[in-house]
Amino acid sequence: MNETEERSGGVRPTEAEASEEPPIIPEGLHWRVLAGLVLGAVAGIAASLLLKGTAYEPTLARVTETVIDPFGKLFLRLIFMVVVPLVVSALIVAVATMGNLRQLGRIGLRTLAFTVLLSGIAVAVGLTAVHMLRPGERISDERRRELQAQYRLDEAKGVESKPLHQLLLDLLPENPLQEMVGALDGSSKGNGMLAVMVFAIILGTSMSIAGSKAEPLVRWFDSLFYVSMLVVGFAMRLAPYGVACLTFALSSRVGAEIFLTLAWYVLTVVGALAFQMFVVYPLFLLVFGRRSPLQFFSGASDAIVTAFATSSSNATLPVALRVAEADLRLPPSVARFVLTVGATGNQNGTALYEGVTVLFLAQVFGVELTVLQQITVVLMCILAGVGTAGVPGGSLPLVAVVCRSVGVPPEGIGIILGIDRVLDMCRTTLNVTGDLAIASAVASGEAGPESPPPQVPRE
Ligand code: ASP
Repeated sequence: MNETEERSGGVRPTEAEASEEPPIIPEGLHWRVLAGLVLGAVAGIAASLLLKGTAYEPTLARVTETVIDPFGKLFLRLIFMVVVPLVVSALIVAVATMGNLRQLGRIGLRTLAFTVLLSGIAVAVGLTAVHMLRPGERISDERRRELQAQYRLDEAKGVESKPLHQLLLDLLPENPLQEMVGALDGSSKGNGMLAVMVFAIILGTSMSIAGSKAEPLVRWFDSLFYVSMLVVGFAMRLAPYGVACLTFALSSRVGAEIFLTLAWYVLTVVGALAFQMFVVYPLFLLVFGRRSPLQFFSGASDAIVTAFATSSSNATLPVALRVAEADLRLPPSVARFVLTVGATGNQNGTALYEGVTVLFLAQVFGVELTVLQQITVVLMCILAGVGTAGVPGGSLPLVAVVCRSVGVPPEGIGIILGIDRVLDMCRTTLNVTGDLAIASAVASGEAGPESPPPQVPRE
């Protein structure tokens, strides 16, 4: 066992341990969330058709504002509550368990470089798609004003425009605790959540260099991450009811128009993901992996289908490892390192999706983002791709974080939650395919032996 395997084996649960852990997000929850969306939408549209213009309209508005809407926001509050510990621990553990980059040398650095490259391209593709299709602008101005009133947009605080040099300097927090305190309401002195993320990466890197000396700390953060995810799991159990209430509140005020907008949003996300999958990855494979994209996709198909079906990079890891060695014939040392790190650390689909979602919600709420704020979105999405847990819905807390930091009401994720599972299946497929593509590219630069075909037995 080399040092990395030893260390990551030390801090990550073994497969046996992991299977004993209770599932963080319950099985089949997405069906209940979808049912919540449909019920809330139907009830809300019916209420608005039946009661608007009658003597009951003010009562409907009052009950929606004082009972239904706050109840709907309960599960979101639970998520926001653990966002700071979750993001900090996820990034620290992801970076710390990447192993000692200096010692891993070429493999580690090439993995890191390809991860940044593919995630950066993914976010750029997503943002270009939102700018071209403008899904959030398919809503009338009148409806937008209603939404702005509903989410009291005038109270939302965004990132103030500051000069580029200051923005860059503020990436390094003077006082990380101060940044954490103000991370969610925009009141931090420096760059808020982005600075907190940079702090976590620096801490994670030094823990990785410290090796065994930092092991207790890595375990501590791993445990913090796990319990924070459990809180997200509790919140998600409330999600079907929360989504029903939020959709009721939304559709009783804004009507059915919002669902047309939502269809455009789905089209934008799926279109951008398809571009990354069928244009960017093949080009990447040709240039850096020196292998035929067709042969790659047919070899990787088991992992691709599993990722789509499970919506979880972590759950797909065993299949991805088998595919990499048995079908793509990658050297085990490269495949194991890149895929294990990539299951949490490289999430191109997630980064793309987060960028599209934040810009879409900004368009829906009529929040104009400056160029610097868009740069902030790009950077945060790349980092969020590193810090997102490879489980279904793992990116939702991060979407809330990025929204908040640019002044978009994070409660808006209530709008997209009902259809999130389908998008999750698609983005997880990209996450896993991206890991395999990076493994191929890293392997093509190494002289190591290819796996002999029967190395990993098929079940
Ligand atoms: N479900 C994704 C994965 O496991 C994470 C996310 O984007 O929610 O890769």
